[in-house]
Amino acid sequence: MKDSISTGKWIGTTNFNLRKPNFVIIHHTAQNSCEQTLKTFTTAKSQVSAHYVICKDGIIHHMLNDYLRAWQAGISKWGNNTDINSSSIGIEIDNNGFEPFTDQQLNSLLTLLATLKKAYSIPTANFIGHQDIAPGRKVDPNVHFPWQKLADTGFGIWWTDTTNVAVPVDFNSLQALRIVGYDIKDSIAVIQTFKRKYEQIETKDAMLNDGDKKILYTLYKKFE
Ligand SMILES: [Zn+2]
Repeated sequence: MKDSISTGKWIGTTNFNLRKPNFVIIHHTAQNSCEQTLKTFTTAKSQVSAHYVICKDGIIHHMLNDYLRAWQAGISKWGNNTDINSSSIGIEIDNNGFEPFTDQQLNSLLTLLATLKKAYSIPTANFIGHQDIAPGRKVDPNVHFPWQKLADTGFGIWWTDTTNVAVPVDFNSLQALRIVGYDIKDSIAVIQTFKRKYEQIETKDAMLNDGDKKILYTLYKKFE
């Protein structure tokens, strides 16, 4: 920057502090044990890490200071933010992706999230999953993850009862997904990501039926 901007000489300010995380990204490890995950995150050649790892017994391992940049999000996008690693805390939960999370894990997770939310004033909507920021590339924390329970406790946004909902005829589903935060470049992947999270179903189907649209409609209304 110094070379390209010709201003006066460097004058250091004294008014600064460290930047704070503003997002929390939740993952499942897709590995078979906590030991394996801890080894992966401490091996230089893996080039991956996370701030926290939560084992099946509920033990939370803190692996990196919250102010530092872990390598957990990878190529990702949320809204116009394309460097999620720089603004987020990554939490990995020991789970292979195809099994329920343990009560101990979820209890520990909720306690940790409450601490982080308070410490860094993280907005409720900014507690999201890895798949949300990388549709088509990632599926974690996958269908077993209880997003509704998290939202009920103040972490993430959930849809509301659709019983009396009438979706307008000109409702644009993809634009609604974009407003929620999704990168809609791959429309099939983003619809599958939406169903995996908000309906807990894995599908090859890339269409939204009337029921799906009602769910999305009530969800996006909270972001307008
Ligand atoms: Zn992940």
